[in-house]
Amino acid sequence: MSISENLNKIKSTLPAGVRLVAVSKTKPESDIMEAYNAGHRIFGENHAQEMKQKHADLPADIEWHFIGHLQTNKIKYIVDYVNLIHSIDSANLLQAVNKEAAKHGVVVDCLLQFFIATEETKFGMNLDEARQLLESDEFKAMQNVRICGVMGIGSLTDDKDQTNREFAHLKQIFDTLKTDYFAANAEFKEISMGMSGDYQLAIAHGSTMVRVGSSIFGQRYYANK
Ligand SMILES: *Cc1c(COP(=O)(O)O)cnc(C)c1O
Repeated sequence: MSISENLNKIKSTLPAGVRLVAVSKTKPESDIMEAYNAGHRIFGENHAQEMKQKHADLPADIEWHFIGHLQTNKIKYIVDYVNLIHSIDSANLLQAVNKEAAKHGVVVDCLLQFFIATEETKFGMNLDEARQLLESDEFKAMQNVRICGVMGIGSLTDDKDQTNREFAHLKQIFDTLKTDYFAANAEFKEISMGMSGDYQLAIAHGSTMVRVGSSIFGQRYYANK
């Protein structure tokens, strides 16, 4: 099936209120344009320089979402146009994004990434670390970032019970943070969870944003997962 057929098929299954981030990392700009011409506007990338190039080359009304581990020295490649950074995995990174955003006079929307999987290779905070961050004076002084919700990556497994537990865990983290810190913040509403293999389960657990790559664009052939 073509990219536009894949896209339309997936979109037709998404409930209202769930947004699709088409994960185009490693894929050529022509693939993105095929999805764009089919009406899609939200794309996810995980390398800052690659995203910068694609942003420079492609239509200005694309929403660019950064979904990968972000090194502080790469923030400058994305800060002035990124629509949402899904992957804030430390207080240090949030502080650095805030600083770079201030230089550019922008406010950057961010999600806090939580570690919910069993694989130790994955990034993310736990609830205690998030509490420490959100209660800190440093956080309260940040004027150039806005926390819009949470993100998590489930384990790479065929065990649906495990995936269900991990997604339920992220939903619980979202609910806890909403109650304890963001009850008055309408923008804190996003739960970014679910990929090609598990987005339906994620939606059943309250996902508001699914990040789907290979089911739209086909397999990736690079080491760049
Ligand atoms: C690559 C990637 C995806 C998309 O993965 P697929 O299995 O190809 O759908 C989603 N989220 C993150 C964080 C990724 O790095």
